[in-house]
Amino acid sequence: MGKLDGYNVDLKGMTSDTVSYRWQADNDFFSAVQGSEIKAGSLDVALRVKQASGAHELEFQLKGEVEVTCDRCLEPMSQPIEAQCTLKVVLGEDYADDGEVVTVPEREGIINVAWNIYEFAALQIPLRHVHPDGECKVLLPTSSEEEKTDPRWDALNKLANRK
Ligand SMILES: [Zn+2]
Repeated sequence: MGKLDGYNVDLKGMTSDTVSYRWQADNDFFSAVQGSEIKAGSLDVALRVKQASGAHELEFQLKGEVEVTCDRCLEPMSQPIEAQCTLKVVLGEDYADDGEVVTVPEREGIINVAWNIYEFAALQIPLRHVHPDGECKVLLPTSSEEEKTDPRWDALNKLANRK
C-alpha cells in the first residue's frame, strides 16, 4: 500500500474550500494498483476537491494513455484516455461505498483515491478495443466476417445500451 500513499487526499485537514492535486500516474502506479485490465500507462491526473455543505466533491480530470490488450491479436495496444469524473465523499462512522457516495470514517478523514483513478480510467476503455487498421498483428477479416460479431458481445452491447 505504501507506494500509493501519495494518492491520499486529506479531507478533514482542508485549509480552504477548494484544494487541488496533480499526479502523474505511470507504470509504477498501474503495477502498484494491480488492476486486471490496465497494466501500464501514463496519465496526467488533476483533482479538485470542493467542500460544500458537509460533503466533498472530488472532480478528476484524466488525460493520457494506457496500455490494454487488443481483443483481436492479444498484443498490447495504446488506449487514449480523456475523461472527467466526479466522486462524492462524506465523512461518517464507517467506511462505505454505495456506488454514488463514499463514506470515509471521520476519525481518519483521509481517502486514498488510487483505486478510484484506476477505475475511472478503466471505465473509459471501450468494450471492444482493437488496434487501428493496419497495426494489428492479426490480419483484418473481410467485411462480411466483421459483421458476424461474437454473440456474447452482442448481448453485452445490448446491456450497455439499455442504460
Ligand atoms: Zn491487435
